[in-house]
Amino acid sequence: MAQAKTYDVCIVGSGAGGGMAAYALTKAGADVIVLEAGGAWDNAQDSAMLTWPYESPRRGSGTKERPFGEFDACIGGWNIEGEPYTSAPGSHFDWWRARMVGGRTNHWGRISLRFGPYDFKRKSRDGLGDDWPISYADVAPYYDRVDRLVGVFGSRENLPNEPDGVFLPPPKPRCHELLVKQAADQLHVTCIPSRLSILTRPLNGRAACHYCGQCNRGCKVNANFSSTNVLIGPALTTGNLTLVTGAMVREVTLDNTGRASGVIYVDKASGTDTQVRARVVVVAASACESARLLLNSTSSRFPNGLANSSGVVGKYLTDTTGTDVAGFIPKMMDHVPHNHDGVGGMHLYMPWWLENAKLDFPRGYHIEVWGGAGQPSYGFMGGIQRYPAGGGYGAALKADYRRYYGATIGFSGRGEMIPNENCYCEIDPNTVDRWGIPVLRFHWKWSDHEYKQSKHMQETFRALIAAMGGEVFSAMPTAERGYGLASGGSIIHELGTVRMGSDPKTSALNKWCQAHEVKNLFVTDGGPFVSQADKNPTWTILALAMRTSDYITDQMKKGAL
Ligand SMILES: Cc1cc2nc3c(=O)[nH]c(=O)nc-3n(C[C@H](O)[C@H](O)[C@H](O)COP(=O)(O)OP(=O)(O)OC[C@H]3O[C@@H](n4cnc5c(N)ncnc54)[C@H](O)[C@@H]3O)c2cc1C
Ligand code: SF4
Repeated sequence: MAQAKTYDVCIVGSGAGGGMAAYALTKAGADVIVLEAGGAWDNAQDSAMLTWPYESPRRGSGTKERPFGEFDACIGGWNIEGEPYTSAPGSHFDWWRARMVGGRTNHWGRISLRFGPYDFKRKSRDGLGDDWPISYADVAPYYDRVDRLVGVFGSRENLPNEPDGVFLPPPKPRCHELLVKQAADQLHVTCIPSRLSILTRPLNGRAACHYCGQCNRGCKVNANFSSTNVLIGPALTTGNLTLVTGAMVREVTLDNTGRASGVIYVDKASGTDTQVRARVVVVAASACESARLLLNSTSSRFPNGLANSSGVVGKYLTDTTGTDVAGFIPKMMDHVPHNHDGVGGMHLYMPWWLENAKLDFPRGYHIEVWGGAGQPSYGFMGGIQRYPAGGGYGAALKADYRRYYGATIGFSGRGEMIPNENCYCEIDPNTVDRWGIPVLRFHWKWSDHEYKQSKHMQETFRALIAAMGGEVFSAMPTAERGYGLASGGSIIHELGTVRMGSDPKTSALNKWCQAHEVKNLFVTDGGPFVSQADKNPTWTILALAMRTSDYITDQMKKGAL
């Protein structure tokens, strides 16, 4: 079925990238349609904020659709029924997908870091990978605008590669974080207030956080960022947005001049195909879904997939490196019960502090901190038997829980991998999803760079726990176990599969995230990234999506699109 209407812009996906494009383009007056494979969601009604674990027979334990816990706001997971993906023999890749309005921003950790000036020009500094065709100065005004629109707290630190933003005041460190700060100072590890997109002051009609610590459940008062309520909601109120849920886009269509003419989507409820026409197509289905969509959009003009004459679509896939260490801190036992609540995330973090040090791996990582006494639910404390003398039955067990509760600390490293030729996704010739759409097959291999980085993380976290007088729960992972490096994809920061660049032979998009070969086709998710940085990517996805949307508006006004 083909719709008669032609929209100005058709956006595929409503997560961070699609939501920002929808917001910016509808505010600029464009007639926009967003096609979202998942269902509707509204934090104000649907969030499980303030539900007690005892209100559920599952006590908050995860479900198939909500692997991070039954109260979690994000519907999706590592495996989605009827939507498989595969890994090539000898490879393993974990792919976490959301299926709902707002995508993964319904759960994400809200760690909102800018890439720094070095991150855009890494090849010039160490010869590895590639430089971006843009610099920090190109993106900085958009970071500022995202800060003002969405809201982020933090502190001005003047660090060379951790640019300060337009910050709201940060919350104070809690007990366990004060101890972390002491240990970090002792080991000369930079430790500063974290930078999260959670409102510590009212902003743009949204209330400030009331520190319930439950951000992952979706915030009923919208004090944290989700694309759903902060971007898609306001875009709908412009009257310029048509939002279609349950719409799985299978293909971007072309007209006979080689321009994108719209998309075809499967209505998941009826299984029927619908064609949408648009003057501009913005693909924002998440980095790997966007690569899949382009690779599946073949034609005589683009037999290898749309805008893929270079063959780079699906290549240069990266994920953040990650490893964790947790420990028990005796001096945090038997504390006076008091309110430890705060924002739903860490109040302190440690940016990369060894930029110019001589190390046996390139680039770096930052450290995320967890621990303290959050609301207990199913599986809390990770098993009491891990604590000295913990376990047993009855009154003694209850007493142990009270003594040890809140005496745990954990560190997670999040670092930069270098794109390598063994990490990519492609169409699996033998497998289709429930609608007959060919699925992705992943190839993955870490290099020595990443393993050595993980070793450094492990050693640092163990030293921090020792400096706190603590005991680590696990033995140092060996080289055979990859020094505890998490599997590819499992940090859920996939990037780079539709990368930008100046040369159409080695990139799919130009510096505006516009396809070199199809001028009215754009990508606004993590696909365009040229390198990973150690920073979590979403603030940069939002800033680039805003920048691309401004460019689309400008080009449409000039009649160039
Ligand atoms: C547990 C967790 C914690 C995280 N923490 C952080 C953090 O602290 N900081 C940070 O920067 N990042 C974090 N991330 C990553 C962050 O969520 C992503 O970087 C961000 O959401 C990516 O935005 P996106 O628009 O590319 O994709 P998504 O948010 O995944 O949105 C893509 C949307 O497209 C839809 N879609 C896919 N295919 C199709 C199709 N064919 N047709 C129609 N619709 C389609 C999907 O249903 C989805 O809604 C975290 C992620 C998770 C899961
Ligand atoms: S901690 Fe703050 S932002 Fe997070 S859910 Fe609670 S009130 Fe909302």
